[in-house]
Amino acid sequence: MNTNFSSKKKLLQTKIVKREDISDLMIKIWVTKPPEYSFKPGQYCTLGVNGIERAYSIASSPDENLIELFVELVEKDEGGVLTPIIWDMKEGDTFTMRPKAKGIFQIKDQTLKNYLLISTVTGVVPYVSFARTYLQNNQDNMKFHILQGSSYVDEFGYFDELQKLSVVNNQNLNYVPTISRPSEKRNLSWEGSVGRVNLIVDQYIESNNLSPENTIVFACGNPDMIIDIQNNLEHKKGFTVIEERFWK
Ligand SMILES: Cc1cc2nc3c(=O)[nH]c(=O)nc-3n(C[C@H](O)[C@H](O)[C@H](O)COP(=O)(O)OP(=O)(O)OC[C@H]3O[C@@H](n4cnc5c(N)ncnc54)[C@H](O)[C@@H]3O)c2cc1C
Repeated sequence: MNTNFSSKKKLLQTKIVKREDISDLMIKIWVTKPPEYSFKPGQYCTLGVNGIERAYSIASSPDENLIELFVELVEKDEGGVLTPIIWDMKEGDTFTMRPKAKGIFQIKDQTLKNYLLISTVTGVVPYVSFARTYLQNNQDNMKFHILQGSSYVDEFGYFDELQKLSVVNNQNLNYVPTISRPSEKRNLSWEGSVGRVNLIVDQYIESNNLSPENTIVFACGNPDMIIDIQNNLEHKKGFTVIEERFWK
């Protein structure tokens, strides 16, 4: 989302409170939440440095004090603009923030049984917010099925948190991380699911008795994965698919 925001007066300021390097290409950062700022689970904020602005989905639940982000570096020679700048930033550095969180990638209907939440790498972020928010008071029957694809095991980012949540809430959360390059050295310790996330989804749907009648599908991250999920689950099988593409 490359946009110019002319009314600079309206921009808020936010500051990095904490940074955690997850791998060479992935970081988590926590920024302050301006007092007037609010968002719904699944929405994104728009951060800027020197007028360069980009969208970042929010991992936090709305009741948390900080805004947590999970960011992947796009190197300069691959066209990255803001992320190479973010990589040099540290605690105390500031961003501009647009005053309103945006995005319709939200759970509007909380009465369904199954939410099949498919992602690649950082696309898991809105689902972390869903899990943190809705599992707290899940008196009803919402069940989240979070499928996350990555090339490497050290890129999952929320592996420990989602694993733990899925143990505590075993009736309401199933987390399936899957790696697409199982034979590479970095992945040799991996004993979990293998294959691209869009290729394991059919088997998952069948094993868990998911159908268009009892399930809504969300797809977030890599646009090629999303197109594949739409063709397969929406056009062929009749599921409703809600999507958020991180790039074109
Ligand atoms: C609604 C929304 C939510 C987003 N949430 C996140 C998030 O939570 N975490 C996150 O890391 N990014 C997220 N993004 C992407 C983010 O806005 C930036 O595009 C990204 O961080 C790269 O910024 P950049 O300025 O370095 O490169 P850009 O100028 O944005 O992009 C440079 C090139 O890289 C491509 N590109 C962008 N991101 C990637 C990627 N991850 N992998 C491969 N190619 C890419 C672009 O299409 C473009 O061709 C989101 C985008 C949208 C639209």
